[in-house]
Formats: sequence, structure tokens, C-alpha cells
Amino acid sequence: MNRILEIIADLQETANHPAKAVKASMKETGKKAVGCLPYYTPDEIIYAAGLLPVGLWGGQTEIKEADKYLQSFCCSIMRINVEQGMKGMYDFLSAVVIPTYCDTLKCICDNWQVAVPKTYLIPIVYPQHRKIAAGVAYLIDEYKRVQKEFETIAGRKITEQDLEDSIAIYEDYRKTMRQFTAIVGKYPKTLNAKTRHLIIKAAYFMDKSRYNAKMKELMEELKKLPAENFDGIKVVVTGILVETDALLDAFVENKMVFVADDLAHESRQFRTCARSEGTALERLAYRIADHDGCSLLYDEEKKHGQLLIELVRDNRADGVVVCMMKFCNPEEFDYPIYKKELEAAGIPMLYLEIEQKMDSAEQIRNRIQSFAEMIK
Ligand code: SF4
Repeated sequence: MNRILEIIADLQETANHPAKAVKASMKETGKKAVGCLPYYTPDEIIYAAGLLPVGLWGGQTEIKEADKYLQSFCCSIMRINVEQGMKGMYDFLSAVVIPTYCDTLKCICDNWQVAVPKTYLIPIVYPQHRKIAAGVAYLIDEYKRVQKEFETIAGRKITEQDLEDSIAIYEDYRKTMRQFTAIVGKYPKTLNAKTRHLIIKAAYFMDKSRYNAKMKELMEELKKLPAENFDGIKVVVTGILVETDALLDAFVENKMVFVADDLAHESRQFRTCARSEGTALERLAYRIADHDGCSLLYDEEKKHGQLLIELVRDNRADGVVVCMMKFCNPEEFDYPIYKKELEAAGIPMLYLEIEQKMDSAEQIRNRIQSFAEMIK
């Protein structure tokens, strides 16, 4: 058990102090780092260039300066990203990649060069019709364009073999994470809602090959232990991400464990594999085409609700918790559709409106407690 606690503490430290962790990793590996705003940035290409992709998903910084550029009805993740950029917290990055999945992200792209001129911007536009041949071809061209940008930063060419090696490491990461999220139900006390979140979050600030090795060791150690007795509540959580600490603590206090998630910050990153055939860039483009059930990716069949129902059934969950990021239009547009489907399937649901920077979590804490009592 000591080794398990050691690995968890190490990953938690990384997740709680990302800048320190990234700088340490840069020193250790000699790599330059590139910031990746949500969502689905081609980290494999960055990694293939010998650079370190780093996730930029907001934080806990007070918003003061960013309001000069972004309206207060932009989501808190992006307002905090711009605030942190303006405060010089990303100055050690060689560039940031910003995909334009939603109106807020388009607005960030427009404002970044003025608000954060020190940090070089690489925008990337994803196709709306990602599943048709023209959409895939377009995305491959976008990947070729940004590949040149990463080559310039790295000062070397990326070969097909570099890309294949990088994809292999990222596919290993995805497989490892699917295995990890699948065992949470067996160890719900050790991997409570907060611990699970921090372990997954640490991946954004580490070299993936080192992270993979750590996660494999953690799972090997866990498998030596018997399943933990648990009289709490098992839920599937959906949304962009689950933060702050106070919110996660409220889940832990009410013995609510995430036996599965449909979070953009977590499982949506690793539930879809790359195809095995085609060139490296084709395989990456098809991973976007094949990914379903995400509000950011246009889906005329609207599979989000069915995916949630399957997650509940497959994991014998007691219900679904919706962590709705305030002012997130793509998630808000999906909600009424899957809400009806969950209600029709008789699945209890808790809707929480969250922000990354919340003054008080008291109201949310009460609602989590009421939901837990209702389920019991
Ligand atoms: S998808 Fe939602 S949370 Fe993400 S950047 Fe856009 S508005 Fe913000």
C-alpha cells in the first residue's frame, strides 16, 4: 500500500503544481514545451517533434486583466487561460495551440496575439463535417500546416517514423487510462472522486512515456489488493471537467465515486483509439472522425445520451451527475436532448452549474448531499 500512496502523492503533486512539474520535466528531458488549449490538439505531432505538449485547462487564478478582452459571459476556463497568459505564467512555453471548436475559442484566437503577445499562437481549425472524406482530407492538410510550425520550433524535421512512434506512445496512454478508469469501481476508497481526478490530470503536465510507466506501476500495485467494501454511491459524471477542490471534496464527503466519466478533460481524451491503417496523419484525422458523444464534435445522430445510458448500465451506476460549465454553449445545447433520454431510461440525474473559480461551493455541496440522500 505504501508504494500506491507514494505514486498517488507524486501524481497529485504534479497536478496541483503544474508549472513546477512542467519546468522540471523540461529540465529533465531537455525538451521545449508547447501549451495546448482544449480540445483534441494533435499532441502526437508535437511529441513527435521532440517537444512536450502541456494541457492548458484554466486554473484557480483570480480574473482581473482578462476582462479587458473577454466578456464576462465567456466560460471561466478560457477567461482564466487568458488571465494566466497575461500574467506571464505561460512565458516559458515556446507556443500555444488553440483549436477553434466553439465561439469562445474563436474569440480567444482573435484576442490572444494582442492580450498575450509573448506567447506565439498556432491556431488550428477543425472541420465541422469531420466524418466525410473532404473533412478528413481538410484536417490532414491542417495537421501538415501545424507540423511545419512544430518543426520550426524544434529545429528539426518530423519523419513518418517519429509520428508512428509518438502515436504508439499515445495509444499506450489511452489504453492505460481506459484500464485505469475501469478499476475505479473496485477501489472506490483509494480512488475517490478527487484522487481519481488528480491522477488523470497529472498526465497533462508530464512526458507521456513517463506518465504511462507510473500508471502501469500504480495499477499493478492496486491489483495485488482485494476489492474495497463500499457503501457509497456510484455515478457517471459528464461535462467539460470537474473542478474546484471544494466541489471534488463535496463528492468525497458524500461518498460519491465516479465509476465512469464522460468528461472532455478525462475520458473523451482517451476513449477513442486511432485506426491501425493509413499514414500517421490519416490515423490522427480519423481519430477525430471516429470520436462520438462529445458536444464539441458535430454529431447529427446525437449519440451523447445513449453513450451516457450505456456507461450507467455497464458500470452499474446509481445515476448521472452533470457538471455544466457556466456559459458553455456546446454543452448547454446537448443537455436538453440527453436529459430527455436519461429521464426516459429512468436514470436519476443531478445537474450542477459550475465555474472553475467559485466563491462558494456551499449551495452545490447541499445539492450533492440531497442527491446522495435521495439515491440512498
Ligand atoms: S467548449 Fe465550453 S468550456 Fe470549452 S472553451 Fe468553449 S465555451 Fe468554454
